[in-house]
Amino acid sequence: MIRDFDILLGAVPDGLFVAGEWRRSSDNGTLTVTNPATGATLKTIASATAEDAAAALDAACAAADSWAATPARQRGELLRRTFDLLQDRADEFALLMSLEMGKPLAEARGEVTYGGEFLRWFSEEAPRVQGRYGTTPEGSGRMIVTQHPVGPCYLITPWNFPLAMATRKIAPALAAGCTVVVKPSELTPLTTLLFARLLQEAGLPDGVVNVIPTLDAAAVSEPIIADPRLRKLSFTGSTPVGKRLLAQAANGVLRTSMELGGNAPFIVFDDADLDQAVDGAMAAKFRNIGQACTAANRFIVHRSVVDEFTARVVDRVRDFRTGAGTEDGVTIGPLIDDRAVAKATHLVQDAVNRGAKTWIGGTELDRPGSFFAATVLSDVAPGSEILGEEIFGPVLAIVAFDDEEEAVRIANDTEFGLVSYVFTQDLARGQRMIEQLQTGMMGLNAGVVSNAAAPFGGWKSSGIGREGGPEGIAEYLQTKYTLTPDP
Ligand code: NAD
Repeated sequence: MIRDFDILLGAVPDGLFVAGEWRRSSDNGTLTVTNPATGATLKTIASATAEDAAAALDAACAAADSWAATPARQRGELLRRTFDLLQDRADEFALLMSLEMGKPLAEARGEVTYGGEFLRWFSEEAPRVQGRYGTTPEGSGRMIVTQHPVGPCYLITPWNFPLAMATRKIAPALAAGCTVVVKPSELTPLTTLLFARLLQEAGLPDGVVNVIPTLDAAAVSEPIIADPRLRKLSFTGSTPVGKRLLAQAANGVLRTSMELGGNAPFIVFDDADLDQAVDGAMAAKFRNIGQACTAANRFIVHRSVVDEFTARVVDRVRDFRTGAGTEDGVTIGPLIDDRAVAKATHLVQDAVNRGAKTWIGGTELDRPGSFFAATVLSDVAPGSEILGEEIFGPVLAIVAFDDEEEAVRIANDTEFGLVSYVFTQDLARGQRMIEQLQTGMMGLNAGVVSNAAAPFGGWKSSGIGREGGPEGIAEYLQTKYTLTPDP
């Protein structure tokens, strides 16, 4: 394990990655990345302007035809080499994510595994893109259906999973034959820059991937999205920003993928295996310090087991160790910034004002960095803000229910529909939940659902499109149908 932070940070490029070169920004602008556990500066890097973004799109367009014409096997092999290199550098990437985002090292290593799997999965999917050939129903002609890369793509990623959110987009795009411009979050751009270096080492042709961190996401993104050469926008982030980007994309009738916010219900029925439910709750709530779109937001627990469930989760939370993610044994790191702490504070306060009971935690921590105590609330009243929006922090909010119908009604009472968790040992009930919950994904007696081979994505305001699985590459392909007469 590399423990010398300076050596690691020194290895991270500080330029924009455009056309295979590392460049300064056109106005020499910079942005500073800080460590949320301490507030200390980690590194200052170039901050792209709209001019730099245009250069990045120029590069992606210049490389588009030859990359699309590169045999699929070769495209897949580039991804596979990158996967192999990432395994060798797993510790570096884990430590870098822990430094810039705050997550505990063990979780950061888990993200390297998860993020890496997209490289391996799509390296295998690249040669499997297929068309079809058939006879028209009348028998008078032949239909040939072929798949083609959509063209240059703009990929915007969030800060909460700096590696996986990038590989989940870059890998299927490259596998499909698309070139890309990537704009990572200004809060965690270092991982994406180091990853671009890894792609370069693996033999990435110039211009196929371009990376433009920037302090001014809106000013840099709008002209790219308006450029008629761009063919696809893929965004992971908050629902309000996603809606704004969808409006911008409408003008060019761009293909879009939107991975947006969630408000996951976590339902514990009276017939649940409580050991399994508590384990699931810990993973679904506290992974990534609660800062996951898939984080369980509302614990909906049958009244007959709510006291026992609450007591058991409080016991587990009592054992957490809070600190910088880079310290050994830490299970709860800092939140991404002070705004996130202020939001958690407000949501807890609002719930308490409406009658919720605080079992543990409930406040920010009096120490440097952006820390909020792991918290358990019960008796959260209907209408509390915490039930209506993403908490994005380590706060477990419990409401009790009396019957199955009520549980389903509460679970579906949200504009979001990303993921739902259900704990029950009754198979028929599990099947009813599959049919009745308005959700793109479901953990049935499981607290984590993400897998590179599975279609990740949401219903309702949680988004459009899927990442991962065979569906993930389809997002970067367009269909052409050709009719030819009976031979
Ligand atoms: P965010 O919407 O603030 O930012 C996401 C990205 O968009 C960042 O790169 C940011 O710089 C950029 N951005 C912000 N404003 C922009 C604008 N006007 N034009 C262009 N780009 C702009 O979200 P965040 O705080 O980074 O991430 C947290 C959110 O992401 C949560 O809502 C979470 O649920 C969601 N998320 C969803 C998934 C999913 O797969 N559904 C995965 C991870 C995170």
